[in-house]
Amino acid sequence: MNVRRTIELGHLPRVRLGNLPTPLHELSRLRDALGGPPACPRILIKRDDLTGLAFGGNKVRKLEFLIGDALQMGATTLITTGATGSNHARATAAAGVLHGLKTILVLSSKVTSPPIQGNLLLDHLLGADVRLLGEEEDRTAAMELAADDVRAAGGLPYLIPVGGSSPIGAAGYLTMTIELQEQLAVMNIVPSRLYFASGSRGTQAGIVLGAQLLGMPYDIHGILVSHPNPVSDARGLANVNEAAALVGSSLKLQAEELTCDDGYVGNGYGAPTPEADEAVLLLARTEAIFLDPVYTGKAMSALIDHIRTGQIPPGETIVFVHTGGNVALFANADRLAELARRQ
Ligand SMILES: *Cc1c(COP(=O)(O)O)cnc(C)c1O
Repeated sequence: MNVRRTIELGHLPRVRLGNLPTPLHELSRLRDALGGPPACPRILIKRDDLTGLAFGGNKVRKLEFLIGDALQMGATTLITTGATGSNHARATAAAGVLHGLKTILVLSSKVTSPPIQGNLLLDHLLGADVRLLGEEEDRTAAMELAADDVRAAGGLPYLIPVGGSSPIGAAGYLTMTIELQEQLAVMNIVPSRLYFASGSRGTQAGIVLGAQLLGMPYDIHGILVSHPNPVSDARGLANVNEAAALVGSSLKLQAEELTCDDGYVGNGYGAPTPEADEAVLLLARTEAIFLDPVYTGKAMSALIDHIRTGQIPPGETIVFVHTGGNVALFANADRLAELARRQ
């Protein structure tokens, strides 16, 4: 008999923030729009856009464990960083509200007074202390300055790296694979590939580690949303190995096991691509699911391209992890409205 493998997370401090497990369901209308069976593979979607906390997304899983750790340390103030449109920053501010922690967001912006819209608007509504930074300024140094302020006022800061991608954040994302294993078993499905958007690599670290520990059958396709960079790669590898240790595994992964696909980035983080915009429109009009142009649209554009160019043999089943981010639609309204009008 095949004994199903498990991952032990019970010893890690955790708070409940998400509506878990998130649904796993089939995208049959999208499949039909992409040529239908048998040429187009079966496509399932794991709805981590529906984790629930303040517009949801993948960061909620990481934050359940990061906030657990912060509370155990007696922290008073969360400090994190990202771009002004950061989904992670918004989710952190929301988690802070629910657990009585103040939140300082150090956000980098291309312009001196960015429009208060999308996630930046939500950050303000959530009461976060937003500190803007020029694009070239050092985020880590700015977080340290904010931490000094907190300590000077008698508080205890808890610093969360960009994207929540620390070993604890990566271990937090293991809950996705644990759910997926259970859901696939119930549905009696063995997928061959898993696609998702990869940024700061914490999600990828959790997904790769989860797949190894649970013996998941699929190849992992992390689709990069920003230009490849060795710092992120190194952080991803450190996170995956330290997360393994956190869950009592001696697994040591090699850099090759964390490779990402950089073919769908376009001109960089947040820069639109026609293919990602097309994916946003296609998912809205076939499945009434909202992707976003920064992350999930780019990841879906890779999957669509792989299907259209015949890189996925017929008869296979694919899982796409929807990591959230649709708040960014509203920060791209003019361009997307124009596209919607034309098609
Ligand atoms: C942050 C984010 C990702 C990428 O997750 P990382 O752990 O940073 O790689 C993907 N999709 C969305 C919508 C995100 O907000």
